[in-house]
Amino acid sequence: MRKIQMVDLQSQYAFIRPQVEAGMEEVLSSAQFINGPAVKSFQSNLEAYIGVKHVIPCANGTDALQVAMMGLGLEPGDEVITADFTFAATVEVIALLGLKPVLVDVDPVSFNIDPSAIERAITPKTKAIVPVHLFGQVADMDAIMAISEKHNLYVIEDNAQGIGATHTDANGNTTKTGGIGHVGSTSFFPSKNLGCYGDGGAIFTNDDELAHTLRGIVNHGMYERYHHDVVGVNSRLDSLQAVVLNEKLKLLDYYNERRKWAAIRYSQLLSGHDNIITPKVIRNCDSHVFHQYTLRLVGSDRDGLVQHLQSNGIPCGVYYPIPLHAQKAYQSDKYDEANFAVTNQLVKEVISLPMHSELDEEQIQTICRAVLDFLG
Ligand SMILES: *Cc1c(COP(=O)(O)O)cnc(C)c1O
Repeated sequence: MRKIQMVDLQSQYAFIRPQVEAGMEEVLSSAQFINGPAVKSFQSNLEAYIGVKHVIPCANGTDALQVAMMGLGLEPGDEVITADFTFAATVEVIALLGLKPVLVDVDPVSFNIDPSAIERAITPKTKAIVPVHLFGQVADMDAIMAISEKHNLYVIEDNAQGIGATHTDANGNTTKTGGIGHVGSTSFFPSKNLGCYGDGGAIFTNDDELAHTLRGIVNHGMYERYHHDVVGVNSRLDSLQAVVLNEKLKLLDYYNERRKWAAIRYSQLLSGHDNIITPKVIRNCDSHVFHQYTLRLVGSDRDGLVQHLQSNGIPCGVYYPIPLHAQKAYQSDKYDEANFAVTNQLVKEVISLPMHSELDEEQIQTICRAVLDFLG
């Protein structure tokens, strides 16, 4: 059996190596490292894949969120609502821009932001909502878009974990995540579903004017060379990363199918045990791309299981061990613990098993046997 890894980027690379090497060689010999043809073609390939009018490549997924908020013209003091149970990047850029993060609880089944908690948190200062498609599952976008229309709020989709997932709305229209809100962001960090071999990110929008603004912001606020119209940043995707992404984009649906297959096998082997809640796909099979396969362990010892797996050579992760509202950088006297009951519970129960496109049946059986051995 191949060594079990949380993500297996070596096996994945072996499959695309000739194409990646040839593409990289082209970049190296042309020396067009920045904004070369590979970046342009990746941009249009990704626009076609997501079905969105504009993709603006940038340096990473955190920048993508920051630039999106800058482009929307959010100003210091504006309130931005996001989930308490997610990676810190979302709340980090809100705070960095001098905006006020308003953290709200999540749904215990989907792990995604709870629309009723969003509604309760809205004030006259609220300007935007940032839903995160956590672990690859589409957030409740119908409810979130309805709230945004009712209260005139921007929706910025953090699609770092959800790329390739689709959402079918109440009218039967199907849209890929990242293209549903006013603006979307994603990350190409190596372990993401579409990952490069370094850092990378992108912003999505269907709004022509906003796209123009965003393109200037990622390039030092320049719309004309050496004319700096707004305060911008330097945030670029480089050509070598675009080569990797162009190859992997062709395989993204296949990668996501492999992840779904692994998730189904895990759930077949693990569901039915009293101490395990397997992840639930809320809508349909295309609305979850399993960036992570995350169990809830109830009435048992989550940290003991982590240790047991690790001592059996099986990696696992706890995403996320601390609610954002309780992080030193983001805590505030104004938060009422009673409003974070779900997140406070989840951080004690969740455990993510290895998840990637190269998992095989034997590895999954080994992992599940080790989980069930521990629980007895
Ligand atoms: C990975 C991730 C980010 C940040 O992406 P980077 O490319 O690492 O900056 C933001 N939000 C979520 C939900 C993520 O998982």
